[in-house]
Amino acid sequence: LLQVRDVAVEFQTLEGPVHAVQAVDLDLAAGETLAIVGESGSGKSTTAMATIGLLPGNGRVTRGSILFEGQDLVGAPESVMRTIRGGSIGLVPQDPMSNLNPVSKIGTQIAETLLAHGLATRKDVDRKVIETLAAAGLPNAEERAKQYPHEFSGGMRQRALIAIGLACNPKLLIADEPTSALDVTVQKTILDQLERMTGELGTAVMLITHDLGLAAERASRVVVMNRGRIVEQGPARQILEDPQQPYTQALVKAAP
Ligand code: ATP
Ligand code: MG
Repeated sequence: LLQVRDVAVEFQTLEGPVHAVQAVDLDLAAGETLAIVGESGSGKSTTAMATIGLLPGNGRVTRGSILFEGQDLVGAPESVMRTIRGGSIGLVPQDPMSNLNPVSKIGTQIAETLLAHGLATRKDVDRKVIETLAAAGLPNAEERAKQYPHEFSGGMRQRALIAIGLACNPKLLIADEPTSALDVTVQKTILDQLERMTGELGTAVMLITHDLGLAAERASRVVVMNRGRIVEQGPARQILEDPQQPYTQALVKAAP
């Protein structure tokens, strides 16, 4: 489904260019969950945002190709990327507060996604919004749909973002630290929910996390990044039980 080859991303800053990501190679098959792990600043979000064509204005892919269903997304026109974001690749962004519209009801935000992708009509959109929220594990979905993001707890906002990310029924879902700010119990519930939903839809998932244990538990393959480069990648079990690189060995040792 996705083949990333030799990708480099550069940000222009006042101090000069920042090489955020270099020589990144990865593959993701339909229905598969791939985890990308690494410390803060290792380039996980940059890799994700390059894939979905949402790098900030000062960032660009300077090398390599990102093939999605055989089409190279590097340098693809914005209209193409918009179509892809509309239906083929969904995103659960890293920061739930800044990625929900604070002045729009949660239900409205989901309705807009559903309508924009032709997944609901004006007639059945209200019902589908409730179904979408309920599928993401939000109790009292009918009441919740009428609320604003600030009326949600952190975990509920994460669920709302998952609901929005999956509302267009994407082939690939990029989930950037979907549960990082949450306690372990809520984390587990949300990841179970995500797993169930993507399992039913056959969605491929790029799961970004700094938690190696969680990555190994949830993904079939794990990519380890450090300072913008891939240190090691392989089957989750092998990365956890028999890491080859000193960096990964240290990471495994340090994991709780
Ligand atoms: P975290 O776990 O904290 O989310 P990350 O692995 O997602 O970290 P990135 O956000 O991809 O890391 O950042 C990778 C590198 O790119 C860092 O050195 C960061 O400072 C730099 N970077 C990211 N965004 C920008 C930007 N808009 N302008 C300049 N540099 C940036
Ligand atoms: Mg990040």
